[in-house]
Amino acid sequence: MKQVNNPKRSLLYYYGFAMLIIVIFNFIAMPWYSERHVQQINYDSFMTMVDDRQVAEVQLQPSENQIIFTSTEDDTVYKTAMVEDPNLTQRLFDADVAFTGEIIEQASPIASFLSFVFQILLFVAIGQWISRMLLKKAGGSNAMQFNLGKSNARVYVQSTDGLSFKDVAGQDEAKESLTEVVDFLNNPKKYQAVGAKMPSGVLLVGPPGTGKTMLAKAVAGEANVSFFSMSGSEFVEMFAGAGAAKVRDLFKQAKEKAPCIVFIDEIDAIGKKRGQAIGNDEREQTLNQLLTEMDGFEGNNGVMILAASNQPESLDPALLRPGRFDRQVRVELPDLKGREDILKVHASKVQHDDSIDYNKIARMASGASGAELANIVNEAALRAVRQGRNAATQNDFEESIETIMAGEQKKNAILSDKEKWIVSYHEIGHALVAAKQSGSAPVEKITIIPRTSGALGYTMQVSEKGNDYLHSKENLETQLATLAGGRAAEEVAFNSITTGASNDIERMTQLARAMISQYGMSDTFGMVAFEQRNNQYLGNEASATGSAETQAAIDREIVELVGTQYDKAKTILINNRELLDELSHFLYNEETITGQQFMEIVNKYN
Ligand code: ADP
Ligand code: ZN
Repeated sequence: MKQVNNPKRSLLYYYGFAMLIIVIFNFIAMPWYSERHVQQINYDSFMTMVDDRQVAEVQLQPSENQIIFTSTEDDTVYKTAMVEDPNLTQRLFDADVAFTGEIIEQASPIASFLSFVFQILLFVAIGQWISRMLLKKAGGSNAMQFNLGKSNARVYVQSTDGLSFKDVAGQDEAKESLTEVVDFLNNPKKYQAVGAKMPSGVLLVGPPGTGKTMLAKAVAGEANVSFFSMSGSEFVEMFAGAGAAKVRDLFKQAKEKAPCIVFIDEIDAIGKKRGQAIGNDEREQTLNQLLTEMDGFEGNNGVMILAASNQPESLDPALLRPGRFDRQVRVELPDLKGREDILKVHASKVQHDDSIDYNKIARMASGASGAELANIVNEAALRAVRQGRNAATQNDFEESIETIMAGEQKKNAILSDKEKWIVSYHEIGHALVAAKQSGSAPVEKITIIPRTSGALGYTMQVSEKGNDYLHSKENLETQLATLAGGRAAEEVAFNSITTGASNDIERMTQLARAMISQYGMSDTFGMVAFEQRNNQYLGNEASATGSAETQAAIDREIVELVGTQYDKAKTILINNRELLDELSHFLYNEETITGQQFMEIVNKYN
């Protein structure tokens, strides 16, 4: 929406500039006409001038007790005090002086001020007229949104940025479902002939940053139709009824331009289940208006509504009814192949080495969304610039993953020597416990360079497959033991424990609780869910269900599960004490150890 501001702003510039010139002009000119004033002289000098025929015009002002006159010699206006002189009139006659009843014009300050005000008013009027003309012109062209002052008329058409399906990497299933929409927009007759109706709304659901907006634009781009777009939060206004009016406006414009796509981003902002939030009449009114508009479509009128949401479970059921958003397209986080493709799409826009291993980067960035991957590529390019190179390298990409995932390297955080030893043992503890259990992901890299996120060290494990969809109970227990490895190493090496494991503890507790109350992996409780997942896509918080006694029993079981895995980790480390020491010394000295260096040392002891 960058274009929006420019016409308005340049108008303001012209306008302000004109005003400035007027003001300056008036300040320079005003003294000149108000000061073309009046020189005072003696009465006898006046009489001398009359007799010498140097006086052009005279006005007698008895009320002011003064005589105003002009000279034939120059432009000056003179005045003199009136003196009791009965012969005055006669002497003026004799000297052929014209004396009229009219006031000799002096530029009065009031008059010049009034003319100044008048000029300003004139320019204000002209300025407004010009701005109205310009806005009218700009409003006629597409791809802009305008606020026409008070009338608040908006044009919702937006550019698709030339996007098509090939720009959206991965997301093959989503593209496949949307191809039908494109086909319908291109050949509506084909569908009408069979009597098939297209769904009037398609809901794109998935986590943030997965390309929902891109897909909507791509549909409009592929079908070569207009793209109307608005975010749900924009509908919710301060004033009751304003949101509903915007909905009406949007659909009115869309119908005029059919066939077209109407895209409503963040539809949850208006589409939440009604009656949940207390007293938000405005939102309900807006939602009702949207439902009315969707019902008002008479069959195939060529307006296709796409909407995006990352909380589909919170949407009002009325929105999901047949005839409204009756089709859902899932836009999930990309898998390994998808991540690789997205990286390639974005890397093609920056300068980089020829030998980039996208597969490796994609494996390292497990769980990243499309937006995060785009960010990683950009971060890599920035890093190259920062270091004075003209192309990003493999190393830049790998480093930027860590930046995105763990925060920037903290340059001047200084660990004490003792702390550095503890962090080294802690991180090696995680890695070694992982390496000594079968089925855990190989270690990619360990560093003990502090990050701005607060992490003092960092162990990166990369699964060969990229994404794991199913976890076995053994697999989760391995993860628990690996998380426990850090604290266990501290205890084995220093016989004392630190606060450094707090994040590990949090994650272990979460995982253990989920195993028991969500995944049915407890012998005591079996397949009963004691937790309800509230939001699949945002954060995954869960709320507990079940009686207080069960909760207490679950808590006890969590303690036991975590304890067992902690003991397992400790045993592994005690049995490999020498290896633990050598690896920790290496990490302490080098601050970074790669997976390869790590495995070389481990294999020496096998
Ligand atoms: P959403 O609407 O799902 O929150 P967007 O469509 O706004 O996400 O995507 C944000 C940015 O992330 C895009 O501008 C693009 O750079 C990048 N992106 C996301 N998904 C993809 C993808 N599948 N292919 C290429 N780029 C993507
Ligand atoms: Zn740890």
